[in-house]
Amino acid sequence: MIDLRSDTVTKPSETMRAAMMSAQVGDDVYGDDPTANALEERVAALFGFDAGLFTPTGSLANQLAIRQLVKPGDEILTETFSHIVRAELGAGAVFSGITTRTWEAPRGILKAADPLHIARPHSGPYQVSTTAIAIENTHNFGGGTVQSIDEIRRLRDESLKFEIFMHLDGARIWNAHVASGVSFLEYGKYFDTVSICFSKGLGAPVGSMMLSNKERNISARQWRKRYGAGMRQIGMLAAAANYALDNNIDRLSVDHKHAQSLAQAVHAVADHVVNPVEVETNIVILNLSGLLTDAADLSASLKAAGILSSPVGPKILRLVTHLDISDDDVAKVNSVLPELIERALEA
Ligand SMILES: *Cc1c(COP(=O)(O)O)cnc(C)c1O
Repeated sequence: MIDLRSDTVTKPSETMRAAMMSAQVGDDVYGDDPTANALEERVAALFGFDAGLFTPTGSLANQLAIRQLVKPGDEILTETFSHIVRAELGAGAVFSGITTRTWEAPRGILKAADPLHIARPHSGPYQVSTTAIAIENTHNFGGGTVQSIDEIRRLRDESLKFEIFMHLDGARIWNAHVASGVSFLEYGKYFDTVSICFSKGLGAPVGSMMLSNKERNISARQWRKRYGAGMRQIGMLAAAANYALDNNIDRLSVDHKHAQSLAQAVHAVADHVVNPVEVETNIVILNLSGLLTDAADLSASLKAAGILSSPVGPKILRLVTHLDISDDDVAKVNSVLPELIERALEA
């Protein structure tokens, strides 16, 4: 099967497994795992933060971060289709008593004016106070779009004036970096907390991290344990993450090239289904509006041809490229998908 459902489906390579096998380990709840400790320091330094906290998932990294920034009853602002509000099952409300308000942005693309327009900091005893804004980069459901560093900077300048914190959901910040050339240090500079994932395009089997200052890190470490995610010999997982950082960042450009190739092949037969210019990283969103097929049907036809995809809306099909997808796989998809779409075009 050619699995384009997500970049989370990657399996650890033989060499990554070898790195995991030879990892130095200790009990991380006692702070004794040297590989986990070194990884936390490494990633914190990479983004210009004081401290990192390894977590099993990106959702937990996001949730530990935002609970450091937002008091119960206060609110975080985020884009309508962001992971924090769409794919974490209300965790901010359930675990931290956080209220959420959203702005909507075409393809998830940040304009600093949008959150600023709805922000209501220091609202007193009668209305909800805004204390944080979350930005997703790249934007997953927006189609892997890369946020403009100028807009991020502008938002930071303005939100500092209002004492509003900023959180970066950087599950795919690696892809943003490779596509934009903006450094990790520069991305880190404008945020109070950051979450990153090793388990998406970087190809590690498990693992994410929350970055913050020392004080928030200490508190988040307690909350991680309280949530039941204090882990023991996680050096084996940290070793996979280290391997991914050493070997799998630059090669994301290959995934981006593959996504571009898929988009262009579809665009060639149906230019309204996808605009290759809007495919900035490794996610291809096909809009099947006006076609004689819906996303579930097309996904089923692809599956019959050995290709897995994700219907993410009635007429929206998502394809994600990653390190287990080869040039040959892309060629195979390009020999099947455009033809299926052509057949679904109205006569
Ligand atoms: C995948 C993802 C996460 C974290 O997901 P987990 O499955 O909890 O690791 C967070 N944010 C975005 C944008 C993601 O795509």
